[in-house]
Amino acid sequence: MNEIRINPLNGKKIIFCPDRMKRPKDIKIVPAKEKKKFCPFCPGNEDKTPDEVFRLGGRKWKTRVFENAFPIVKPELGSVHGDFDVRPAFGYHEIVVESPNHYSDFRNVSHVRNTIITYIARFNELSKKKRIRHISIFKNHGDASGASLRHPHSQIMAIDFIPDEMRTELRNSKKMKKVLSVESKSERMITKTERFVVFAPFFSESPYEVWIVPKKKMRNISQFDDDHVDEISKLISTLMKAMKSLLGDFSYNLVVKQVLKGDYHMRFEIHPRLEIPAGFEIDTGAAVNTAIPEKVAELIRKKLRGRKA
Ligand SMILES: [Zn+2]
Repeated sequence: MNEIRINPLNGKKIIFCPDRMKRPKDIKIVPAKEKKKFCPFCPGNEDKTPDEVFRLGGRKWKTRVFENAFPIVKPELGSVHGDFDVRPAFGYHEIVVESPNHYSDFRNVSHVRNTIITYIARFNELSKKKRIRHISIFKNHGDASGASLRHPHSQIMAIDFIPDEMRTELRNSKKMKKVLSVESKSERMITKTERFVVFAPFFSESPYEVWIVPKKKMRNISQFDDDHVDEISKLISTLMKAMKSLLGDFSYNLVVKQVLKGDYHMRFEIHPRLEIPAGFEIDTGAAVNTAIPEKVAELIRKKLRGRKA
């Protein structure tokens, strides 16, 4: 029977339709094979990007950060007016080029580690800026994710408001303790390390959604120490390998759910983009998910075991 599960953190409704579940290989969205065109993010083209604000490494860089050439928010406060509420879209919108290698991806541990180190450095810097109240860190990978360039990159947006969904989560922050204790003992648990728990949440919004949650409560990635960085880099890389062998070349979004202030337990979320939200989702705001998390966790666990063997 189809059922509606409710996310206790943000109140979102997710409708599970297992009968619509297709085999993973049938629902993958393969990024189109592209011919290598001019790439502004490749080494040698550093002067084709806006001014650099950060780099990991020296002349031979590992990661680079610069302002997005087409920003959603800008650090400017001009006057705006209109028929309804309106204000300047203030903030900082940065691009993180995660690797000099055009074809690298998150299956590579040092690629992930350099990216996480860069996230932390930029988070620390942007959180000091005036007016900033929220920092959004995300990665779009593949055609179906919204990514416009193939070269591996993430984005960081520092904005002057707290998103509504995050306000709801802050109100419900006490519930994360229960989510973590239930999920870490459930059939949805995928793997555990010394510092993290990985699971397919009961109320997954999208097929093959995976959460990586630090065991110790921390509100954002600035609280990660070197061991956290090492562990989560290995975890993400291992998960990506397992998920790729299940789903093929899949598109995904990776997001860091975190806050600057307040009582909150942060997490990383991986959302494979296997289906495109349709009219019902737009009309109701509810999500429809065809992959049961219990099954997803079992499939990923099997792949992880296969790798260790
Ligand atoms: Zn490139």
